[in-house]
Amino acid sequence: MSRRQLHVAAEVAQAMPAAYLAQLQAVVDDPDNRCARCGGPITGASAEAVILCDENVSTVRLAHPKCARSGVYQASGMRAAVTARITDPEGTDINTTLGRRQLTPRALVFLEPIMLLSLAPSGGQLADVEDPLAVYATQRGLEPITGQLDQITPEPTTTSRLHVESDGLVLTNPLGQDTIPADPDVLADWCTTARDDHHTAIVITARGLGLTQQPTTIEEAIATRPAWAAQINVHGLPQPRRRWWPRITKKTPDPAREPRQVSESPGRMSAHDRPRS
Ligand SMILES: [Zn+2]
Repeated sequence: MSRRQLHVAAEVAQAMPAAYLAQLQAVVDDPDNRCARCGGPITGASAEAVILCDENVSTVRLAHPKCARSGVYQASGMRAAVTARITDPEGTDINTTLGRRQLTPRALVFLEPIMLLSLAPSGGQLADVEDPLAVYATQRGLEPITGQLDQITPEPTTTSRLHVESDGLVLTNPLGQDTIPADPDVLADWCTTARDDHHTAIVITARGLGLTQQPTTIEEAIATRPAWAAQINVHGLPQPRRRWWPRITKKTPDPAREPRQVSESPGRMSAHDRPRS
């Protein structure tokens, strides 16, 4: 049941198949919705349904009432913008978080690209509708899933790989990569879980996950919206610490201190280093 009121102008209702309208109505309360004009989160009591179109593509978006009234707007370069957003090799504009569940594999990665709601040729029929999130998911080898987070068992894929980096994870796919930043402690726990589960994690994407909110709306989103997931191999997991051996750590030079260590005249202090009297 939607709480936020959706304003739909007559010209929008006319231009939009009824199924689009239902889809828009279903997601109007999602916490991660962004305004089509200013890009800010939609938080007010109402939202405007706007259609942006050029000669090739129509997209249905939401907007703040103060930013744009419901209507059909001409916007050149829509197809290029949409394609660039889905296939950007630098990574899509995306919210991410790491998680864990009881069932193996337990390590979870949630991805919510901030992208257009729907995409169809101008004047196209519903059969032509292409969900950009479905395109995004398919490119990464994710398959549609339904059910509870603690019960789903998505198929493995080799289309994408997860790599552990010092500041998070990277999901590589044939067209590019998504970066998933993580707090070091969270990442360390996540890596331990993934390593214990045969270097495997589950990657999940859906709308309305609320990854920027506390609490998130992950469970509700996966239970009620289209969602995609796959089991994906994790590479570059750190070796488990062997605590019964003395830890031998190779001392790496600290770049900040390096100039002083390699100074040609080690006895001389720079003005910066000289103690103040
Ligand atoms: Zn706005």
